[in-house]
Amino acid sequence: MTKDKADNKYDDLIRKLKIDCKKCSGLCCVALYCTKTDGFPANKEAGTPCKYLDSDFYCKIHSKLAGKNYKGCLAYDCFGAGQRTTQLYLPDGTWKANFKQKDKLFQIFMIVYQLHQMLWYLAEAFTLTSDELLKSTIDLLISENEQMVQQPMDHMAMLDLSEYRSNVNSVLKQISSDISPIASSNQFHGSNYLGKNFKKANLDRKNFSMSFMIAANLSGCSLRKTNFLGADLRDANIKNADLSKSIFLTQMQINSAIGNSNTKIPINLTRPATWEK
Ligand code: SF4
Ligand code: SF4
Repeated sequence: MTKDKADNKYDDLIRKLKIDCKKCSGLCCVALYCTKTDGFPANKEAGTPCKYLDSDFYCKIHSKLAGKNYKGCLAYDCFGAGQRTTQLYLPDGTWKANFKQKDKLFQIFMIVYQLHQMLWYLAEAFTLTSDELLKSTIDLLISENEQMVQQPMDHMAMLDLSEYRSNVNSVLKQISSDISPIASSNQFHGSNYLGKNFKKANLDRKNFSMSFMIAANLSGCSLRKTNFLGADLRDANIKNADLSKSIFLTQMQINSAIGNSNTKIPINLTRPATWEK
């Protein structure tokens, strides 16, 4: 059973999952391992500050990222894990001020990232079902997630998320199959659509979850209730497409695709400044 997205008791939670780099200390620019395949011109080791990160934790080339081919940086979104890790584990400082603990902090940042990513999907999942049992399961999973994030630093760094992730995946799978119940609607699941031309197609309720859609042409497509869970949309053309009711889309997917002023996106996501006007 599905219903249109309506009032969501988790709207505040979704807002907290938006990035707020001013309340962070450039954690992503240090903690992450960056590679050319992820959209960086050169590889960067995990735990090493990017050469463009300044002493105030701002990016020295922020306005030139596109010209310098730092697509990965333009697209990246941490689901608010940066400011949350800072708020919980560095309330009075930065990773530099806690240098001895930095490796543990970066490890925790990666765990908070995964927890926040699952929160993002769960909060949306709650709006997509009217099944009370499923809603209760989602409530429990969100509550469990919040408890995990509050743990002391040493516990947090050792956290094994495999069982929790499996429980979240079961919920998302059930909701996905409720939305695309007909076998033919699921034909796209986990497929390779590199550069595929879908121009102006009606792809409502199709299941593109975990599909490889780099540079696919989705321009002018209708994508209502289309499932993009984990789909790779780098350089996908979504100009003039209607994704306003697409499901399980993330800011990073939108940032990495190519849209324009006519592209309709879900209300919880932000239109990238780099899209043509
Ligand atoms: S980790 Fe997140 S909040 Fe921190 S600088 Fe990176 S994107 Fe911004
Ligand atoms: S180029 Fe800028 S945004 Fe990208 S990792 Fe370096 S400092 Fe961060």
